[in-house]
Amino acid sequence: MVSVSSGDNVDFNTQGKIQQVTILGATGTIGTQTLDVMSQHPERFEVFALTANANVQGLFDLCVKYKPRYAVLLSASAATSLETQLKNAGVVTTVLQGESALCEVASHQDVDVVMAAIVGAAGLHPAMAAAKAGKRILLANKETLVMAGNLFMQAVTDGGATLLPIDSEHNAIFQVMPYQRSRVLADIGVKRILLTASGGPFRNASMEQLQHVTRAQALNHPNWVMGPKITIDSASMMNKGLEVIEAHWLFNASSAQIEVLVHPQSVIHSMVEYNDGSVLAQMGNPDMRTPIAYGLGYPDRLISGVSSLDLLKVGRLDFCAPDQNKFPCLRLAYEALDAGGTAPAILNASNEIAVEAFLADKIGFMDIPALIETVLSKANVEAVTSIAQLVEVDADARRAATHWLNTLACAH
Ligand code: NDP
Repeated sequence: MVSVSSGDNVDFNTQGKIQQVTILGATGTIGTQTLDVMSQHPERFEVFALTANANVQGLFDLCVKYKPRYAVLLSASAATSLETQLKNAGVVTTVLQGESALCEVASHQDVDVVMAAIVGAAGLHPAMAAAKAGKRILLANKETLVMAGNLFMQAVTDGGATLLPIDSEHNAIFQVMPYQRSRVLADIGVKRILLTASGGPFRNASMEQLQHVTRAQALNHPNWVMGPKITIDSASMMNKGLEVIEAHWLFNASSAQIEVLVHPQSVIHSMVEYNDGSVLAQMGNPDMRTPIAYGLGYPDRLISGVSSLDLLKVGRLDFCAPDQNKFPCLRLAYEALDAGGTAPAILNASNEIAVEAFLADKIGFMDIPALIETVLSKANVEAVTSIAQLVEVDADARRAATHWLNTLACAH
């Protein structure tokens, strides 16, 4: 197993060269915050390419402002429309379309840094392309590691890429755990990783209340402003489950070494406990520009625009254990990690379908874990051999999840 690539034989010093940055998922919350941090350091970064799914207006506005060399949309019709609008506005940006173009701008020889911030399994191929091409990858798209952790980490090593975790928890762990490639935690004196979780909007809800929570309530996260999919994942605690799997791959940690701790203030972003009893925590206001700036500047510390942490104002830091009965998604993720092989990919795909259905008001909140558990229990878990296999596994799990939804709709 390999772990996060940093220090070993990698030259991080930009030596004054302006870094060319591709932002995959530029119109999203991580994408726009990345642009915000970059624009505070024009002497260090230039926008090479910006990508989105089908959001023509959002990408148009970003192209007018940042004038990237390339803009990529997944949808062909959206790309045609963007091309026309940019031409009319006199913006010289080449517009490309499709998944192969996403991979192209992630692996282009002129690119130094790739922010992988597409949401969901759709981020896998471009992230793999960046890994194989040896880029500095700022990984926000946790689904890549959940689906294809071993293949992705191998591609990072083989491609000579540098992987910096952007998820605030993993970024925190990375900051407090001097990394050593290919070594297990015990060898570097680490006892366990404490992954903090806000507990989401339903931390204090009863089982009964959870049956009836609405989409609007689930989208109302108490501490973080995020895209809709991760916000629902946070409410169900699947987000923390995905992060447990992510931590497993990034830090060479077994599931038993990763403990989830609910910390409602989201001030401590995670902790590492060492054998000597030391517990190191990384703290800060809940603002993704901190880990983004850390990834962009590493090993330098850049100004991010994040305000100072006022501990007097915070006043207190609370902790409690997660309730896996109320939040079965967390248990399901641990089980998928322990099952290994294709189980996490099946978990991820069925979760994406469940979240989509919940956001479309087709199912209730507690149907999310029910759907995932059914799909996982019926799936044939195999060893992971290739990305092509994972693409098939992902499609099969989505079909099984859709079948479950159709059956539920008929029953009503
Ligand atoms: P958003 O929903 O805000 O943005 C998603 C981005 O991905 C948009 O640019 C969207 O384009 C693009 N996109 C969506 N589907 C596709 C597709 N099929 N192909 C290509 N591009 C696509 O998500 P977030 O920024 O919140 O999250 C991005 C990733 O970062 C997720 O994996 C999330 O788990 C992770 N993350 C996010 C955090 C946060 O604070 N937001 C914190 C930690 C991790 P379009 O606008 O056209 O839809």
